[in-house]
Amino acid sequence: MSTYRVAQVAAAGGSFEIVEREVQQPGPGHVRVAVDACGICHSDAVFVNAELPGVRFPLVPGHEIAGRIEELGEGARDKGWQAGDRVAVGWFGGSCGHCTPCRQGDFIVCENLKVPGWSYDGGYAEEVIAPADALARIPDALAAPDAAPLACAGVTTYNGLRRSSARAGDLVAVLGIGGLGHLGVKYAAAMGFETVAIARGAAKADFAKQLGAHHYIDSTADTPVADALRSLGGAKVVLATAASSDAITATVEGLAPRGELVVIGADADPLGISPTQLLMSGKIVRGHPSGTAQDVQETMAFSALHGIRPMTEIVPLDQAAEAYQRMLSGAARFRMVLTTR
Ligand SMILES: [Zn+2]
Ligand SMILES: [Zn+2]
Repeated sequence: MSTYRVAQVAAAGGSFEIVEREVQQPGPGHVRVAVDACGICHSDAVFVNAELPGVRFPLVPGHEIAGRIEELGEGARDKGWQAGDRVAVGWFGGSCGHCTPCRQGDFIVCENLKVPGWSYDGGYAEEVIAPADALARIPDALAAPDAAPLACAGVTTYNGLRRSSARAGDLVAVLGIGGLGHLGVKYAAAMGFETVAIARGAAKADFAKQLGAHHYIDSTADTPVADALRSLGGAKVVLATAASSDAITATVEGLAPRGELVVIGADADPLGISPTQLLMSGKIVRGHPSGTAQDVQETMAFSALHGIRPMTEIVPLDQAAEAYQRMLSGAARFRMVLTTR
């Protein structure tokens, strides 16, 4: 029996260790994927620290997976896949097919959503076994380390924007230009929005413009963020990628009437929004949950078409512990990606 390596955490809050495991055959409807690259997402920490129910240890996180199908379980070939196909698996790691949202065709809000690194071992590994319905086909133009982050960070920002009420020409602000936000700015500009980047400090203005932003707002400046947005006409949509409830709250008064705050950055603190801020002007606040495998595939296709790539720091799987710490510290520029070869 051949073996493969994983980077696992033995207990909640523990550190990463490299462990050898025996290669398993994929079960019915599943495929085994040889992992080429896996992005490190901030939400991996939720699993490592067992902050959600049902997390089991030892844990192999990783839901930004890019690789090649190595072996197909019974029935997986009938779903259109073959050995050698280049595939990505993201936050959407499969749905149950029988809950009410699934029966309504809204798979990403499946009540039993399978997330790699939570429901089954994730992509900090040389091999992953995933359900065939979680697979997104990677276009030839995208290398694995570029495709991997698009399966979570990419699809979340891309879908968050295209499922919003903004239309071409509308003023759209992206709060935060880190792992999620730098992609959000690129997508917003490519979708034809008048794009505002909001981040901390004047020094990031040039970088924001390089990403394609038409305007930059320094959230540490004397002028409040909301005033700065209103002076640009008010935002039709704010895509909030920053993991700061205070920073997210500070944008609400900068929304145009009927404007929409789309929340994708996670912070444990409540948002400080009063009903009166929403009522008179008909504003909307909503969360946005990533996207299905088909959404991931469309995100990758759009990225290939427009030459959009994530900015990454590529690190071998052996250094998963260091790479994970670098993500946690906020020092990553801008997505840490583990590679196996
Ligand atoms: Zn993620
Ligand atoms: Zn379901």
